Amino acid sequence: MLQVKALTKTFGGFKAVKDVDLNVKKGEIVAVIGPNGAGKTTLFNLITGILKPDSGQVFFRDQDITGLPPYVICKKGMTRSFQIVNVFQRLSVFENVQISVMSREGKTWNLFTPSKKLLIEDTDRILDSVGLLGKRENISGALSHGDRKVLEIAMALGGNPEFLILDEPTAGMAPEETERCIELIKQLSDKMGLTILFCEHDMELVFSISERIMVMVRGSTIIQGSCEEVRCNEAVQDAYLGGSDVCLM
Ligand code: ADP
Ligand code: MG
Repeated sequence: MLQVKALTKTFGGFKAVKDVDLNVKKGEIVAVIGPNGAGKTTLFNLITGILKPDSGQVFFRDQDITGLPPYVICKKGMTRSFQIVNVFQRLSVFENVQISVMSREGKTWNLFTPSKKLLIEDTDRILDSVGLLGKRENISGALSHGDRKVLEIAMALGGNPEFLILDEPTAGMAPEETERCIELIKQLSDKMGLTILFCEHDMELVFSISERIMVMVRGSTIIQGSCEEVRCNEAVQDAYLGGSDVCLM
């Protein structure tokens, strides 16, 4: 579904992403892991059109999407969430998701459309699927951090994606919120058939839900493989455990 070939991005002489290759098959959950500053967010920005690569290519369902603007890539079925929470604070939970559903349908709020009636069923179905239906009237800015991160995922679902990219979905969450987020990601894959690419610090989460893992260090891929292959890889040990012989997990 996604094929990244030799992607490179330089910021003023500093190579943030170097020659990265990545493949994601339909229906897979793939994790990108790596220390802070490894280039994970930059890689996701390059894939989703927020940044243009210096060289390399991105193919989505065999179409070359390299350098296309984000809204065009989104229309093709690829949506992302951000590392930093990105919701309209003063709108309700329902309104935030409704906006994303409306933009998919090419509709906007205006004086002549009773906004509340627009796409209510679609919006409520999404809220239900992420467990936020009971909080639909809550003001988004007053939600807990965990709920706001889940709301962001719900907003991404408004675009009706087939491929979802999540940048540190559990960042800053309390343990029980993390647990709930893991369940949600599994459900999106199992029940809705979404293909998911995510990056994450929480190793437990990564190993518990990923089918394959790609490890990035200083902008480069050091390994892409199954959880077992990654767990005991020497370079991964070096990056995470300072060269200890102990196998991760
Ligand atoms: P990660 O998400 O893995 O923590 P990032 O992709 O955010 O890493 O950053 C990779 C490197 O690129 C970091 O050293 C960061 O400081 C640098 N970087 C990221 N974005 C920019 C930018 N817009 N301008 C300059 N440097 C950047
Ligand atoms: Mg990041």
